[in-house]
Amino acid sequence: MDGSRRSSKANAFFSGLGKKKKIVLFDTLVNNYSKDELVAVLAHEVGHYKKKHTLFSMIFSILQTALLLWLLSVFINNEWFSLALGGTEYSLALSLIAFTLLYSPLSLITGILMNIYSRKNEFEADNFARVTFSAEALASALKKLSSDSLSNLTPHPMYVFFYYSHPPLLQRLKALQA
Ligand SMILES: [Zn+2]
Repeated sequence: MDGSRRSSKANAFFSGLGKKKKIVLFDTLVNNYSKDELVAVLAHEVGHYKKKHTLFSMIFSILQTALLLWLLSVFINNEWFSLALGGTEYSLALSLIAFTLLYSPLSLITGILMNIYSRKNEFEADNFARVTFSAEALASALKKLSSDSLSNLTPHPMYVFFYYSHPPLLQRLKALQA
């Protein structure tokens, strides 16, 4: 993928299912990483596929969308929310405001659950690359990726718990040494 036009950050990801599946490597990655580092990144992405992370992430996001649409229909088809917000009768606008207010705490919770799942998957994919290729090459690629994206080396654990979809670099390096 031609990522260099937009940013100097390097990245790789898995996309598609079945016959359409592919691993996308940014040109910034291909140009600036050694062959071993690239193979390690590739092995990590293959790990996501082999451990069925891609499939389950897709299922979870479909379920999340279904939940959102169901809740939206409950709010739109019910006058309680309009009355609770001070309206005298059903109002679509008030229903939508109530939905937005009450959906944000719920999406915070689903976001936390998705992040916990995603961080677990990163460790599994790292381990797949360690077993099938090389811990050293992956560690070296992760360090480069981390410095390219100016990531925080020592984020607060609570911040990681709420918002990080990937474990912090030092934890991943430590897990690779185990
Ligand atoms: Zn990953």
